[in-house]
Amino acid sequence: MSAEFDLIARIRARAGGRADVVLGIGDDAAVLQPPPGRQLVVCTDTLNAGVHFPDDTAPADIGWKALAVNLSDLAAMGAVPAWCTLSLSLPDADPARADALLDGVLELATLHGVVLVGGDTTRGPLSLCVTAIGHVAPGHALRRDGAGAGDDLWVSGTLGDAAAALRGWSQGDAVPAALRARLDRPTPRVALGAALSGLASAAIDVSDGLLADLGHVLEASGIGAEVDVDALPASAALPDACPGLELRRALQASGGDDYELCFTAPPALREAVQAAAQGVGTMVTRIGRMVADRGLQCRTAGGEQWESARAGYEHFAG
Ligand code: ADP
Ligand code: MG
Repeated sequence: MSAEFDLIARIRARAGGRADVVLGIGDDAAVLQPPPGRQLVVCTDTLNAGVHFPDDTAPADIGWKALAVNLSDLAAMGAVPAWCTLSLSLPDADPARADALLDGVLELATLHGVVLVGGDTTRGPLSLCVTAIGHVAPGHALRRDGAGAGDDLWVSGTLGDAAAALRGWSQGDAVPAALRARLDRPTPRVALGAALSGLASAAIDVSDGLLADLGHVLEASGIGAEVDVDALPASAALPDACPGLELRRALQASGGDDYELCFTAPPALREAVQAAAQGVGTMVTRIGRMVADRGLQCRTAGGEQWESARAGYEHFAG
């Protein structure tokens, strides 16, 4: 299939390089030189048409998001991203779409100094599978199992925009551009994740909804949490698009696709956490605390217990 080789040649011409890429695209596999004394951190995530993005999503946005969700996983580990691969499944040989998908991948890759070092190109339903590789100081990866009772619970950025956009889109509403951008072009909190390495006791990125993802931390750490649902940070655009308080709380607590970092740290490190976040220009908000008793309790500003009507997004559910 010469269209495949044309495409690979175009990808290769655009992929760029860095000194630690001994051999990039063009051989049977890439050869990478890890920084001395660092541990490698590897993740992979797939975006499938019809499952992971609205069908009117621009190809460049799909490309961006395919890398963003992976950089978000590396950020949640406190890792510095370095390299990625891209496995592309394309329904046809349309070069314009293939190039636009790549535009999005490479735009975000360039922002973070990440180099595309290989991949695979096949015919099939539209799907992008990225593998991202980063590195971390030995023993400093931010894991899900390190949270302790008494730790503060934090979240970066704002929650609920992407879920509000997806909800509006699926209802056929006009979705404000600011919200749609949060759905289509999530911002992986790369610099924050690396800055929290050595400070946070546990971290996870919020992809399936805050409460669902926090649940994984609780399970891994064997503790519980209290969440102040009215302390969840919201963008300026969210209340306009979603005036109902109850719906807003549900979208923020359980909506998903936020790609913010949810992390824990001892109260003694409160100022250090704030300084680290300020140093990388990312807002962080304290949204609760970790407790010894297992389970997840949510409270409103008035002190009442609050139950989310919606669970997080789960594949193969129902
Ligand atoms: P092989 O048959 O040995 O697997 P391929 O023809 O699949 O080789 O790929 C040739 C080269 O192009 C390899 O270096 C591979 O990593 C790279 N490559 C193929 N598809 C992509 C892609 N979508 N993105 C980046 N690199 C790719
Ligand atoms: Mg191959």
